[in-house]
Amino acid sequence: QAKGAGRNTARFFNPNMQKTIESRMALETALRQALFKGELQLFYQPQIDQNGRCFGAEALLRWRRPGHGLVAPLEFIPLAEETGLILPIGQWVMDTACAQIKAWEASERTRFLRMAVNVSARQFHQPDFVAQVQASLERYGANPHRLKLELTESVVLENAEQVVSRMNQLRALGVSFSMDDFGTGYSSLSYLKRLPLDQLKIDKSFIRDIATDPNDAAIVRAILAMSQSLGLEVVAEGIENEAQRRFLCENGCHRFQGYLLGKPKPIEEWETRPDLGADVDRTT
Ligand code: C2E
Ligand code: MG
Ligand code: MG
Ligand code: MG
Repeated sequence: QAKGAGRNTARFFNPNMQKTIESRMALETALRQALFKGELQLFYQPQIDQNGRCFGAEALLRWRRPGHGLVAPLEFIPLAEETGLILPIGQWVMDTACAQIKAWEASERTRFLRMAVNVSARQFHQPDFVAQVQASLERYGANPHRLKLELTESVVLENAEQVVSRMNQLRALGVSFSMDDFGTGYSSLSYLKRLPLDQLKIDKSFIRDIATDPNDAAIVRAILAMSQSLGLEVVAEGIENEAQRRFLCENGCHRFQGYLLGKPKPIEEWETRPDLGADVDRTT
């Protein structure tokens, strides 16, 4: 044991290790300040139906870190989750998304758009998560039917009963739920029948080679068939070319998100999309 501890101590003083720790601490300090310095921004990626019309957007977080340019979420969200910073950050995301839902309501072209917001496990498991979402909606007067929360498997791994009850409380308000990155987890199938979901998002790792790899094609066909019999809407993510889109169309998937249809963009660049607001679901 002493020997092991000695080795760890030695490793601690390894200059590379020291560097890693320092840059991690710098990242944490900078991230802590990013929020009140106004360095966080939401980008919005369009979601498109089979007629090429935009029916919604996914809000994707970006950090304009001085001296580092635009930082992608995978570079800071894991740290934000570890440190708990994801809680104030997630709250800011929810507020900003709700304000945008309300802003969309003002125009005939955008008032029926749905907003998808990613929620991390740590956020969802806060005791007052439901109240927080409700407060955000009310603060901005946003229509709950326009808000969709994207959960990943990490959210539903623990305490399934509580997850279901929270989802039902939010659904009672009109909020809907999507299972993100579907197919990449360990128990994807088992939670499908337990959770009150509205939508699945097929992970982009299955979409990438869909037009050339028979295994990926078979998996996606199976997911589509299953979703249909469970009455779940499906969105395919990570569509980068026409062959992928065509395969999906031919196999009954009618909702798409990916660089082919539009990259995530700041809202100013977004509202001029020509395909906004046409022929979308206007029932709620
Ligand atoms: P996600 O929710 O699965 O989001 C989809 C990711 O795929 C986004 O990456 C998007 O930019 C990227 N993407 C979209 N179309 C394509 C495509 O055609 N090809 C490829 N290669 N990628 C595409 P992004 O924005 O870097 O976000 C990464 C992840 O970070 C998200 O994955 C989500 O899990 C997390 N995230 C983003 N924003 C938030 C947030 O506000 N809160 C939380 N908790 N997590 C967030
Ligand atoms: Mg997502
Ligand atoms: Mg995803
Ligand atoms: Mg993903």
